[in-house]
Amino acid sequence: MSDPPDGPTEDELLAQAAEAGIHRLAIPTPFQVGRVNAYLIEDDPLTLIDSGPNSGKALDELEQALGAHGHAIEEIELLVITHQHIDHFGLAAILARRSGAQVAALNGLAPYLRDYRESAERDDRFAEQIMLRHGIPADVVTALRAVSASFRAWGSAVEIDRPLYDGEDLRLRDRTLRVLHRPGHSPSDTVFYDEERALLLGADHLIAHISSNPLIARPLGAPADFTGPRPRALIDYIASLRRTRELELSLVLSGHGAPIADHRALIDKRLRMHQRRAEKIHGLISAQPRSAHEIAVELWGNVAVTQAYLTISEVLGHVDLLLDSGRIAEREDSGDRRDREDGVVRFTAV
Ligand SMILES: [Zn+2]
Repeated sequence: MSDPPDGPTEDELLAQAAEAGIHRLAIPTPFQVGRVNAYLIEDDPLTLIDSGPNSGKALDELEQALGAHGHAIEEIELLVITHQHIDHFGLAAILARRSGAQVAALNGLAPYLRDYRESAERDDRFAEQIMLRHGIPADVVTALRAVSASFRAWGSAVEIDRPLYDGEDLRLRDRTLRVLHRPGHSPSDTVFYDEERALLLGADHLIAHISSNPLIARPLGAPADFTGPRPRALIDYIASLRRTRELELSLVLSGHGAPIADHRALIDKRLRMHQRRAEKIHGLISAQPRSAHEIAVELWGNVAVTQAYLTISEVLGHVDLLLDSGRIAEREDSGDRRDREDGVVRFTAV
């Protein structure tokens, strides 16, 4: 990962965080994204933002990283969870049990985390239905469900005893963190804004080296058998990015990778990228009606199979932008053409 040519280096930004009493603890995960960043905040209460996944290796490295700053798991008094992905909260239950820490998360996320296994199962059923409806072959869907189930144990149910509300101030002795709900990457994405220091704990809402995937996810609090309307993750995400753009910030500490010095430049770059991708997808749909999976295959080849859900989430997000501007339409094929009797949604240019 290289630093921008003129901006401050990663080390300088981490030093700036350390001056604010915040230390990055990079915890290993079994996922393609690599390490996840937990943050230790030396304040009262002693606070940890995110936990890393539920694995012995993650626990061991977290313990060592805390030790390097002169702390132990048992001393943690407040554990804050930024969103519903297992690389961020998997160890939370173990840490809470060992430390007696309060566990804080967005209020709407509490039932999800309490019933984690059931929540994950419902997410998978929802994803399956989306995948079939948008043209992913049934055998691929079955294989992906097995992959998802095999990752289940990297998460673990946890009880939230400090629900957080969008807009509220979470007060520590030396700082106030404003709780801001920023859905898009996941429905529960929550960022923490220290206005006094112009600092944001941004989790996966904004990441320097990768564009955060606006994954289509079952809405928080949706009924168990929720089938739609299809959540519009990219539309939500773009709205969230625009709100974050308004904040005065000199430092964003992300859930993965390096800190961000110029959030506006990065957000503008992401917005331009999404616009370009929407145009590209519009071109493909203009050439012929296509399903989301067919578009994903055009754009990413075999990755559209191995990462089928991720890639149709990406396509559907951009399709939503095009649907909103009235440039394409959605139709569920009803058998009026002989090759389209499969109930798969296809998009056509208007
Ligand atoms: Zn995430």
